[in-house]
Amino acid sequence: MQRTLFICKPDCVQRRLVGEVIRRFESKGLRLVALKLMTVSRALAEKHYAEHAGKPFFEGLIQFITATPVVVGVLEGNEAISVLRGLMGPTNGAAAPPGTIRGDFGLSRQNNLIHGSDSAESAAREIALWFTPTELLDYQLADEHYVSGGE
Ligand code: UDP
Repeated sequence: MQRTLFICKPDCVQRRLVGEVIRRFESKGLRLVALKLMTVSRALAEKHYAEHAGKPFFEGLIQFITATPVVVGVLEGNEAISVLRGLMGPTNGAAAPPGTIRGDFGLSRQNNLIHGSDSAESAAREIALWFTPTELLDYQLADEHYVSGGE
C-alpha cells in the first residue's frame, strides 16, 4: 500500500470540479486518508514547488496556487502514486489524453486542475508538508479486499 498527496488546484475548485475529481479517485478504489479545503500561503507554495524555483513559470505558478482555495488530500491504495498520476494525465491539458482528468477538463499547461506526487520521496515530503500526523486517518473500507486483493 502506498500513500500519495493530491491537490485540487484553484481552477478545479473555481470550476466546481472537486466532486468529479474525487469521484474518480473513489471509483478507482483509492481510499481518502486526509482531506481539507484551505488557502495556500506563499511560504507553503514555495516549499511545495521548491524544485521549480528559478524556472520561467515559477512566479506565475505561485500566484496561481495561492490566489483562491484548494482542496488537498492524501490517498492510499495499491500503487497509489502511479495510479494517481495515470488518472491525472500529463502536465499540459491540451496534450493530455481523453479519459484523464487533465485531458477531459482543460487546455492549459498551468491551470491543469490537479497535483499528484510524482515519486515515493515526493509523496513522503509533500504529505509531511501539508498534514500533521494526527490528520492522517487509519481505517479500512469494507470492499478493500475486492478492490486491491489477489495477485
Ligand atoms: N507548470 C507551468 N508551466 C510549465 C510547466 C509546469 O505552469 O511550463 C505548472 C503546472 O501547473 C504543473 C506545475 O507547474 O502542474 C508543476 O510542474 P511539473 O512539471 O511538476 O508537472 P506535474 O507533475 O504537475 O504534471
